[in-house]
Amino acid sequence: MTLFFPTHSETGTPVTSTVMGMTTSASVPVESEGAIDVGAVTDRLVEANERYAAAFADPGMDARPVLEVAVVACMDARLDLHAALGLKLGDCHTIRNAGGVVTDDVIRSLTISQRKLGTRSVVLIHHTGCGLEAITEDFRTELEMEVGQRPAWAVEAFRDVDQDVRQSMQRVRTSPFLLHTDDVRGFVFDVRTGALREIAPA
Ligand SMILES: [Zn+2]
Repeated sequence: MTLFFPTHSETGTPVTSTVMGMTTSASVPVESEGAIDVGAVTDRLVEANERYAAAFADPGMDARPVLEVAVVACMDARLDLHAALGLKLGDCHTIRNAGGVVTDDVIRSLTISQRKLGTRSVVLIHHTGCGLEAITEDFRTELEMEVGQRPAWAVEAFRDVDQDVRQSMQRVRTSPFLLHTDDVRGFVFDVRTGALREIAPA
């Protein structure tokens, strides 16, 4: 699968096909460049799902991840977690947000993942060229100026991705709600090479 386009950020060309994840991405018709129609995108996804469902066989799994691992990662479109980590359907929980930040809501998901669905390991993945390196906490002020209300959430912007991974690992390790905090590892995914670089904990 061709999921990593090194020229993506230079050309501004939308990278297609990653959104459907694993098995149907290749079957999504690639439209000509610049032809993405905002109103038609969801229709395209629904059409892809019809093909997916037509070929789908009930895997007969329950909801407990086979590898007993939860992966927390940035929502970045260039990061295909299943392809990059050799994951298959049913293997893991994937929890994603802007930056792959360990927010209270991520702790909520991890707590349910561990206590109700049997995961033991946590893998944190940030990446090179993250959008959160390009903004600051001033974004909250900008929003307040525009809409008259300051968001309750922190932007969680960062300047040093390695340090942000260390902080995320620390937040997981020190959470009182989690059952398993001994196997928590953090990585930076290079969007140009597809390689992971492990970050040593603080
Ligand atoms: Zn990112």
